[in-house]
Amino acid sequence: MTDAAELRTRAEELLAAHPPATTDRTTFLKARFDAGLAWVHYPKGLGGLDAPRSLQAVVDAVLNAADAPDNDPRRIGIGLGMAAPTILAYGSEEVKERFLRPLWVGDEVWCQLFSEPGAGSDLAALGTRAVRDGDDWVVSGQKVWTSSAHVARWAILIARTDPDLPKHRGITYFICDMTDPGVEVRPLRQITGEAEFNEVFLSGVRIPDAHRLGEVGEGWKVAQTTLMNERVSIGGSRIPREGGMIGPVTQTWRERPELRTHDLHQRLLTLWVEAEVARLAGERLRQQLVAGQPGPEGSGMKLAFARLNQEISGLEVELRGEEGLLYDDWTMRRPELVDFTGRDAGYRYLRSKGNSIEGGTSEVLLNIVAERVLGLPSEPRNDKDIAWKDLAR
Ligand SMILES: Cc1cc2nc3c(=O)[nH]c(=O)nc-3n(C[C@H](O)[C@H](O)[C@H](O)COP(=O)(O)OP(=O)(O)OC[C@H]3O[C@@H](n4cnc5c(N)ncnc54)[C@H](O)[C@@H]3O)c2cc1C
Repeated sequence: MTDAAELRTRAEELLAAHPPATTDRTTFLKARFDAGLAWVHYPKGLGGLDAPRSLQAVVDAVLNAADAPDNDPRRIGIGLGMAAPTILAYGSEEVKERFLRPLWVGDEVWCQLFSEPGAGSDLAALGTRAVRDGDDWVVSGQKVWTSSAHVARWAILIARTDPDLPKHRGITYFICDMTDPGVEVRPLRQITGEAEFNEVFLSGVRIPDAHRLGEVGEGWKVAQTTLMNERVSIGGSRIPREGGMIGPVTQTWRERPELRTHDLHQRLLTLWVEAEVARLAGERLRQQLVAGQPGPEGSGMKLAFARLNQEISGLEVELRGEEGLLYDDWTMRRPELVDFTGRDAGYRYLRSKGNSIEGGTSEVLLNIVAERVLGLPSEPRNDKDIAWKDLAR
């Protein structure tokens, strides 16, 4: 069994063989992956050492102290947070070996082709079709709100393979090559002015059966692994005290005493305490993850994160008065990074509006907490045993 001392030694050996000051970033990250120090709880040969997940902190501490390059989780968030755990759980050995290394290193960016016009919260209603043709599947349909599709090399995709079954049972999960003929990506502008996400049109895209994750018709079960990891990765990322949205507000508060009022002081204090509670609860959730799979409790964290971001960024705009109403730049951008806290106060205020929609709306997450955490009765459903093709749309 790999222990903390062994991991510390391995991390030191990595640094000795590839000194960060003289090694280029990608070479270092590949060597780190090959040494099993990328995600230590993953299997040997796939960037890990079958070690307890909690020991990742030991490796990170040694490498951070040496100023070693890290993979940027903001750029490759969908790959790291959602595609990787799903591939690990459901991919064949060939699929794991092909995809996990470039994903972790950041050589290949991933996107998530789940949402469709008419299938967002009710994701299982999706209509993109995948039809078997020899060793391939032929996929046609439209996806929407696809973050990073303009920079992605690969996508996780769910599509309907049997319209005669009830909606949750006729879905299959695939890995889609975004460079294949038939994939068209069109920008969608957001309230911030930038186009972080896209519409994606799929017209007769051929996906080899070898790129299917899980059994045919079991895609909903596979998607649950992705979605639970998504909520944890959005709501439960590790942040330092006064990191995240509360950071710029407290900084302005300290530096600009002329802006302070008694009312704003009271509200800032309340939000500071709530942000700290959410931060510590996120830490607890991460420790819970060490013991097993992410549970529905991740939905609670994502809810808190979204509500707090909106309240804090609103307070920041108010605190800055007229200056808070200025917006830096409406030029259409195609960002490579999803950046919740970047740029100025106006950007943070507008970008945080999406936090209560992306990764599942707050209303739907409340339903999940009610049903799966509190055990309250589920919402009435009238589509349970009806074939998807017979549903009213
Ligand atoms: C910034 C951003 C990035 C995104 N990135 C991606 C991505 O990369 N890939 C991807 O696949 N998708 C992505 N999405 C899509 C996102 O997951 C969906 O927008 C979301 O699931 C909501 O679906 P919808 O937009 O169809 O709204 P709808 O489902 O139509 O919901 C409309 C309203 O009705 C409410 N509602 C619906 N059902 C219920 C219910 N049962 N109980 C109570 N209220 C209900 C909702 O909460 C909402 O307020 C992104 C969205 C945003 C904003």
